[in-house]
Amino acid sequence: MGAESGSVNGQFFISLLNPGIGLLFAIAFFLLWLNRRERYVAYAAGAYTASALAFLIQDVGPVLPMELQRLPANLGFLATGVLFAAAIIKRYDLPIPWRAMGVTVAVSITVFLWFLIGQPDIAARILSVSVGAGIIAAMIVRSLWPIDKPYLIDRVLFWVAALSALNLIIRPVVLLSLVGGFDNYVGFQQSVYWTTVQFSQAMVSIVAAISLMVAVAIDQINELRRQVDDDNLSGLLNRRGFETQANTALRRCIDEDCPVALMIADLDHFKSINDNHGHAVGDAIIAAFGAHVRLIGPPGMIAGRIGGEEFALLVPGAGIEAARRLAEAVRKGLAAACADRIPARLCPTTSIGIAIGAPGTSLSALMADADQALYEAKRTGRNRVRAFTPKPVRLAANGG
Ligand code: GH3
Ligand code: MG
Ligand code: MG
Repeated sequence: MGAESGSVNGQFFISLLNPGIGLLFAIAFFLLWLNRRERYVAYAAGAYTASALAFLIQDVGPVLPMELQRLPANLGFLATGVLFAAAIIKRYDLPIPWRAMGVTVAVSITVFLWFLIGQPDIAARILSVSVGAGIIAAMIVRSLWPIDKPYLIDRVLFWVAALSALNLIIRPVVLLSLVGGFDNYVGFQQSVYWTTVQFSQAMVSIVAAISLMVAVAIDQINELRRQVDDDNLSGLLNRRGFETQANTALRRCIDEDCPVALMIADLDHFKSINDNHGHAVGDAIIAAFGAHVRLIGPPGMIAGRIGGEEFALLVPGAGIEAARRLAEAVRKGLAAACADRIPARLCPTTSIGIAIGAPGTSLSALMADADQALYEAKRTGRNRVRAFTPKPVRLAANGG
């Protein structure tokens, strides 16, 4: 049988298609994994390794005596499905349904073995393994169904899984009903069915691998972007990140015609805390402030550390009353937020300036207004909230 399938004809080269593709992508994912130790990339490398081995065993060489050598090949196909499902599901940090996949593999292989040994039937064996793999692909669909798919690539991965599931379940049913069963194994290997499997599987493999690689690239870009825009100490955005996101939010506010509040908070007499108790205490306070703001800030708030001990909070949709409430909560809650990091008496107070912008206000104009209000808060004794009041009256008075 091995000699039959090994004879050099067109079929032989088609036989090398899937092992070759599997091997190339296994290497590619392995190299990606070396660079980026993400579990899901390792699963993808494993899936393509399993696929390459399974097709190699299936088409090229016997590893077990007689019909039994079908077993490792088909276990390999199912392992490919399991690892591929694990790769995609893990990318979204969703729970991997190991148990359900294990049960599916066990049932599928049991049925397979029955039709291998108990009551030999090639078509029934194909059906058992293909449908098993299809059910595993359907588990990807089920896991990804409820979650947000913000990028095109998320929808592509979803549809690759959905089409694989359909392909695996429907293909054997349709093709077997068209071409009928197989009298012997050589007949199977040279059948339209097996050639179709080899080709469609090769195409699915390529599309799936390229989609996953694009996903890896997008994840990498997003991570770099996060690193560039985040402030590690406070856990908030840094100045650059704040300005980028605040500008985007301001543009959206224009479209939706909503007001927007900007607060700038500056810790009081911070230099003396650093000087008297050390930089580490100062750092702990900055970290506590960041955690505090993240905890009490409303959804949609954009918060960043824009200077040493200076923070900006942009709240789309907030008017002056909401802004004041939030600013007071930030100010009054800071001591408690510091308490589990440093002795409470070392925690500084904070002064906060608020500016409210109508739709269309620029970020720099809002920042200037909030800065002026902050200056007022400092000037009038610190540890307080001041709102910027546009003063056409004062301007008129100055002018006149
Ligand atoms: P004011 O009440 O007027 O705001 O007085 P202040 O002392 O807070 O203001 P000043 O701007 O004079 O001092 C800010 C200090 O913040 C200076 C610097 O030592 C400290 N600082 C800036 N960045 C960091 C940081 O990342 N970690 C720590 N620990 N301290 C920082
Ligand atoms: Mg200060
Ligand atoms: Mg300052």
